[in-house]
Amino acid sequence: MAVDIPFRREFSFEYGRLEPVAPGVRRIVARNPSPFTFRGTGTYVVGSGEVAVIDPGPDLAEHVEALLAGLSGERITHILITHTHRDHSPAAAPLKAATGAATYGFGPHAGGKRGDPEVEEGGDWDFVPDVTMRDGDFIAGKGWRFEAVHTPGHTSNHLCFALPDSGILFSGDHVMGWSTSVISPPDGDMAAYLASLDKLLGRRDAVYWPTHGPAITEPQAHVRAFIAHRREREAGILDCLSTGVGHIDAIVERLYVGLQPGLHRAAGRSVHAHLIDLVGRGIVASDGMPTLDARYRLMRT
Ligand SMILES: [Zn+2]
Repeated sequence: MAVDIPFRREFSFEYGRLEPVAPGVRRIVARNPSPFTFRGTGTYVVGSGEVAVIDPGPDLAEHVEALLAGLSGERITHILITHTHRDHSPAAAPLKAATGAATYGFGPHAGGKRGDPEVEEGGDWDFVPDVTMRDGDFIAGKGWRFEAVHTPGHTSNHLCFALPDSGILFSGDHVMGWSTSVISPPDGDMAAYLASLDKLLGRRDAVYWPTHGPAITEPQAHVRAFIAHRREREAGILDCLSTGVGHIDAIVERLYVGLQPGLHRAAGRSVHAHLIDLVGRGIVASDGMPTLDARYRLMRT
């Protein structure tokens, strides 16, 4: 019985326009649509007059120019980064250069430990925050106050930013309405991701605004569905292993029926993340290191 995730894909916006989406919150969408970014990166602006910007977006000059034009007469005082993927953080550099605003984030990509470039192509290795934020840290500006919520899993440095006074959580790529999140080892970590979903269930945020796609107005039900979906995927992987299907490619073929060809690699990364978690829990063994092309099998009990 497949878990039914209540995806939300109705999304109205105009590229290049800074538009109000909630009291005190505006958004401008960058023209970088893809199978991983939905319609593009949604850059949020919080406050008015003196504002914070969340996820300035990809290295796309027209996006930075449109954001600055939309904010003419106002001042950017803070640049917040949910995580260091190339569709989120690279525009922090030109925006900082144009405004002098300080950047805030958990830290450099993967803690600065560069892995195999083959599996880390999405990382922005250049971004280093001016101000390091940790779980539970607060920052305040004119008319707003953010709480950092460390939510590793999609990346190890992923932060969500809550506005506790209005019940909003900017959920980055940790929880999105339009899609599940890509969990790609080595920086992506399935056990951490599931723990970070559990962490959100323990909070009372009323609405999530992800960096891609529309708001999630029933966040708890959405998060519960994502947890159930991953548990279901894990059960499917164990089922494959129990019948001797032990290579990631074969598991993807069996479990991801009807997947767009362009998403096969991402699916393989997700299965890999599950397998690393299962090996860590002593449920599954791999022949040699638990790599993308290792052979996996159930541990005998
Ligand atoms: Zn991302």
